[in-house]
Amino acid sequence: MKDASEMDLKTSAHAILAKLGADTAVLEAGEMASFSPVTGEQIAALPVQDAAEVASVIDRAAQAFRVWRKVPAPRRGELVRLLGEELRMAKDDLGRLVSIEAGKSPSEGAGEVQEMIDICDFAVGLSRQLYGLTIATERPGHRMMETWHPLGVVGVISAFNFPVAVWSWNTALALVCGNPVVWKPSEKTPLTALACQAILDRALTRFGDAPEALSQVIIGGRETGEALVDDPRVALVSATGSTRMGQQVGPRVAARFGRSVLELGGNNAGIVCPSADMDMALRAIAFGAMGTAGQRCTTMRRLFVHDSVYDQLVPGLIKAYGSVSVGNPLTTQALVGPLVDQQAFEAMQAALAAAAAEGGKVHGGSRVTDVAPDSAFYVQPALVEMPAQTGPVLQETFAPILYVMRYSDFDDVIELHNAVGAGLSSSIFTTDLRESEMFLSAAGSDCGIANVNIGTSGAEIGGAFGGEKETGGGRESGSDAWKAYMRRATNTINYSRELPLAQGVVFDI
Ligand code: NAD
Repeated sequence: MKDASEMDLKTSAHAILAKLGADTAVLEAGEMASFSPVTGEQIAALPVQDAAEVASVIDRAAQAFRVWRKVPAPRRGELVRLLGEELRMAKDDLGRLVSIEAGKSPSEGAGEVQEMIDICDFAVGLSRQLYGLTIATERPGHRMMETWHPLGVVGVISAFNFPVAVWSWNTALALVCGNPVVWKPSEKTPLTALACQAILDRALTRFGDAPEALSQVIIGGRETGEALVDDPRVALVSATGSTRMGQQVGPRVAARFGRSVLELGGNNAGIVCPSADMDMALRAIAFGAMGTAGQRCTTMRRLFVHDSVYDQLVPGLIKAYGSVSVGNPLTTQALVGPLVDQQAFEAMQAALAAAAAEGGKVHGGSRVTDVAPDSAFYVQPALVEMPAQTGPVLQETFAPILYVMRYSDFDDVIELHNAVGAGLSSSIFTTDLRESEMFLSAAGSDCGIANVNIGTSGAEIGGAFGGEKETGGGRESGSDAWKAYMRRATNTINYSRELPLAQGVVFDI
């Protein structure tokens, strides 16, 4: 039998799915084609679930909720502990499938699976810590407290660029919180979703007595997602993707008084101050802006450099952009892999042309053709020196473009930093305590993530992840993000023989 590295990507992907126990009969049974960005070759054609099928999936999930909500939370945590164990065993295979389907380097593919393992560990601990408060009451002989209860069916919609981690952030928390999950992955990355479901199925078999349909995957594009979004039995829709998608999903969920967690686009910036450690800044910016070919929601897209250090930093960055290796992430050690598809390439070229029209000086950005077949899209990352923050700089283009601008006044640069629609991640490079504290203060960065002396990307699961403004306002993963997956009840218990009313109200009958 051939070694995995010798197989074509389709055979390799199908072999991984078979090994993980997924039903491989569906891989070529439908009309939704999926491709590997590594070579552009088609790797599957899956059947799409229509609205009626989505409704019956949600129906089964609603039945599962009635059982799962009564299972004690630490016991629910045991399922997530087993999921973490299964993920550890499947790390190499799932990581490779992520690389095939999303075009990530092996270390990034494996890193994404590690993030899944980390959130499982976090959620297992959390399963014994779903705390409510006991609250002082003004009424004698009374006790007041709050209780957190399971919420209901959680619908997860995910983007192509973190095809498995986003599911695990939601699912590990949803499961310990007592909720079943229905997942609609990106139409660009359905195979990794089937792999995750197979891995969870193994954990469920070992767990033994979980209800059927605790976790289900629905395959399809926007219409399939809409069927999930509009169903009133879906208590929470956790949607990750572009701001455009959030603008559609948010109001639809709100119209039926559902709950949503929106994790949308970013237009993340870094600020390099005069006192910065320039060597550290250069390396952090290079990873933050070029890593994953600029296809992370936290990718650094804007850079403000103080006038006094511009000529010290920017020529070195331009050199790094020119020399970074671009190529097949599965067969070479290249640091920059492919764009997801032709559409992403065209969006990048349109943004570069618009930047040039605004007076931008473009370094790099052209297509690299000698590393893969024509059906794949590789680019040299682009650094654009911009005279001002105008045109495409104000929008997220999901590709490796870094817009670099000069600044001279610290207050002005904070204003410029915040003057875009998105509010996901941000960073400052400084060794000046005043600048760093100012950046982290209420009058500083307006983002959900604000870092000092590290780049904008590479969050850990322990912190709450998400951003403000057009990034949607949702929080996932660590800290108290679990509260979005539960409903809170305030309980007042009278253990006296009187009936004192709150606020001194008298009602004698
Ligand atoms: P996308 O918006 O095209 O698609 C995301 C998902 O939404 C897909 O599953 C898609 O089928 C679904 N979808 C699209 N329109 C829908 C609708 N009207 N109703 C229901 N579902 C719908 O995004 P993409 O190209 O896959 O991913 C890139 C984008 O995601 C970038 O903007 C990136 O910044 C963002 N992203 C954000 C985060 C975050 O945590 N903030 C994480 C990863 C990616």
